[in-house]
Amino acid sequence: MKKKIVLTGLIVAMAVSCMACSSKKESNELVMATNAEFPPYEYLEGSDFRGIDVEIAQAIADDLGKELVIEDMAFDSVITSVQSGKADIGLAGLTVNEDRLKNVDFSDTYTTARQVIITKKGSDIKTVDDLEGKLIGVQLGTTGDIYAEDVKDATVERYNKGFEAVQALSQGKIDVVIIDNEPAKVFASQNEEIEILEEEFRVEEYAIAVKKGNDELVKQINESLNKLEESGELQEIIDKYINKE
Ligand code: GLN
Repeated sequence: MKKKIVLTGLIVAMAVSCMACSSKKESNELVMATNAEFPPYEYLEGSDFRGIDVEIAQAIADDLGKELVIEDMAFDSVITSVQSGKADIGLAGLTVNEDRLKNVDFSDTYTTARQVIITKKGSDIKTVDDLEGKLIGVQLGTTGDIYAEDVKDATVERYNKGFEAVQALSQGKIDVVIIDNEPAKVFASQNEEIEILEEEFRVEEYAIAVKKGNDELVKQINESLNKLEESGELQEIIDKYINKE
């Protein structure tokens, strides 16, 4: 009987120490949730992650002495995986908005973006007002999706990838796509049949999502972001991916 208790104690002790060792290992990782379908912010080149968010996250991880681990997932899982603690940070061209602030905290913002409207060349849609009653394509769960819902009498078609929405547009299945400006420019540069409307739609700010209440990590990230801004590295990263006209 006594032997059994000793043995149980030993197993428990081993399990605890093993847990400690694995959590120690994990704590040196900075796990980033993203959706690598959003050039120039995050995309895959072969099996390598590339883009502005990827480089910003790498620079922050370097600054914090952590190893960056990237988890690619559907866009609408990014916030939930940060919320549940599966990922430490979410970078996915994530716009800060009231709804998301209920579920996660955000770092300081690191860039300004715009929502734009992509049409097929020659379309009679020229302004935001012309969207009324139209078939609007968006990426599921994005701010574009939220705005499209407010358009009077419009039907919203939701796609998992922005690229799929653009494909549907060139195939004439939908009338427009609402998406962020920089990905729109990338998609338009790859597709001669589409164009971006001049009219400015919504202006937004991107930031890094962190689990609610993890003030320490938000503080560390903001300090790193500050350094990147002051050294000019942040601008260099952005300029590397976004061609200045
Ligand atoms: N900025 C938009 C949002 O946060 C789109 C982001 C994306 O599609 N990756 O909803």
